[in-house]
Amino acid sequence: MQLTCDLSIAETYISAPQRARVISEHWFSENCYCLACPSNRLIRTAPNTQAMDFGCDACGHRYELKTFRRRPTRSLVDGAYSALLARINLGSAPTLCLLERNETWQIESLTAIHSSFLTPVVIEQRPALGPHARRAGWIGCNIRLDRIPIDGEIAVIQKGICVPKAEVRDRFRRFLPLANIPANQRGWTTLTLSIIRDLAKRDFRLSELYEREQSFSQIYLGNRHIRAKIRQQLQVLRDLGVLSFEGPGRYRLLN
Ligand SMILES: [Zn+2]
Repeated sequence: MQLTCDLSIAETYISAPQRARVISEHWFSENCYCLACPSNRLIRTAPNTQAMDFGCDACGHRYELKTFRRRPTRSLVDGAYSALLARINLGSAPTLCLLERNETWQIESLTAIHSSFLTPVVIEQRPALGPHARRAGWIGCNIRLDRIPIDGEIAVIQKGICVPKAEVRDRFRRFLPLANIPANQRGWTTLTLSIIRDLAKRDFRLSELYEREQSFSQIYLGNRHIRAKIRQQLQVLRDLGVLSFEGPGRYRLLN
């Protein structure tokens, strides 16, 4: 993987955003590979549109590229709320590829936000644009990265070093079966995993998750079955190979 971008590709462009777009898009299509299958080719799927969408013609997985000097860690501004929510519910949300580059267009990091972790829980509505805006009434969204467990953020390039392809694919493919669970249910799974990761220990107890019941009720307002949902998610996470059951109310993260 080449970590220096070819700037000559954008010589004819004057505006900085256009140059950034052309350079990063070219780099991505030349260097990136599918994380979901063994294919080493990703192709542009939607030329002439705002979103930089790529797809794998072997397995159909989709990717959206976003380029930054410093990537956000808490919340990511995205496009129309209703459009993204519809894609999530239809199971066609893309994996988000967050690219960080320096001043001279050396690639510093590339992080994939796994599409299986995009659920209604992480999509936040922004206020509608005011009556005097060009697109009055339009509602955009933020993607709450802080609600996605570390498992959903897969490093492809870290601090200027490529993570071995086999390792990246292993980490990514492990969570592909999550996509078979409807988006609303999947939100519970990923939120549970997020709360488990926040415990910051390998062995934990059910009681420790119950103590954090409020973290669930803040998001799933009015749900009266939170404890039952937590237990159900632990089974889902066990089936995914994320954790093991060690005894009554005791669990262990596997890695
Ligand atoms: Zn593929």
